[in-house]
Amino acid sequence: MSLTGKHILSSDLFDRDELERLFELADLLVPVARGEQVTRVLEGAVMASLFFEASTRTRLSCESAFLRLGGAVTSTTGTGVTSISKGESLADTARVVGGYCDLVVMRHPEVQSIHDFAGATNVPVVNAGNGAGEHPTQALLDMFTLHREFDRLGKSMDGRRIALVGDLLHGRTVHSLMKLLTRYEGLTIACVSPAELGMPAELLELAAARGHQVEVSDKPAIALREADVVYATRLQTERFADKPVPYSDDFRIDRALVERVCTADAVIMHPLPRDSRSGSNDLATDLNSDPRLAIFRQTDNGIPTRMALFASVLGVVDEIRSSLRTASWYRPAFTGPDDAPFYRR
Ligand code: ASP
Repeated sequence: MSLTGKHILSSDLFDRDELERLFELADLLVPVARGEQVTRVLEGAVMASLFFEASTRTRLSCESAFLRLGGAVTSTTGTGVTSISKGESLADTARVVGGYCDLVVMRHPEVQSIHDFAGATNVPVVNAGNGAGEHPTQALLDMFTLHREFDRLGKSMDGRRIALVGDLLHGRTVHSLMKLLTRYEGLTIACVSPAELGMPAELLELAAARGHQVEVSDKPAIALREADVVYATRLQTERFADKPVPYSDDFRIDRALVERVCTADAVIMHPLPRDSRSGSNDLATDLNSDPRLAIFRQTDNGIPTRMALFASVLGVVDEIRSSLRTASWYRPAFTGPDDAPFYRR
């Protein structure tokens, strides 16, 4: 299947072959993402980034990815500053913006939004989060992170135990991730959440139908044992009509819990942002210097993954290899003071 010209609205679009093709390309683009090499395959192309909901990582990394490919970016954030505040439909906005650019990245608080938008333009649209629906580019970077982490650890993806923890009802990143995980073989997927925030039934059924072992639990301390991957998520407070009840202490993934129940080579992930306010019981900051914590390797991986996706959607993949040249500007040997020794250059 070719991704060229396609709207990327759901992670369902990607089967295992497609994922492996994308990861091979993303591996090639890691030095470009790190500022060690340069490519200009999208010189002259324009991306429009429309974020009608809060974002730090997704917007900046999509924009950086497009810029690192040599393209240009035009963007708007919030609805207050666009004509949507004057009653313009998303379909009209889509037709207009499609005339200004070659690719659109869009985030919106409503699930249906991305479908209405993409239906009104033939310019490829990438879903950067549609309410509690999906977040396919986050799931792609999460899978690319697993591809690199398991490569380092000498493990394969098949047969692993994956624990997804937190607000699995509203967490769009885990919805998209579930669909990608099911493309592999023989996984045990433990969905660990407060009872009222469980993974939607159709995703549990999809995983079971594709031959995976599915466990549903509200006990992280038990479900995390022997897990190859712990994927924690934030309580999606913005999706509740009333004030949400915070996670109980059981859902606080901190150094004490990890030391007690996790294996020495577990990969600990989170799509971020983590809620670091006291009482939030999210992924704790006392794990920052634990090399098992992969959250900033995940964010770094967002750039090559999104570069690979944009290059594929705009049909310039075959030009990349011959276009690469060495960059000459300064870059530190490693980005964060807590970066794991194996992650330093
Ligand atoms: N950044 C992710 C998202 O936009 C996760 C989160 O907000 O909790 O869905």
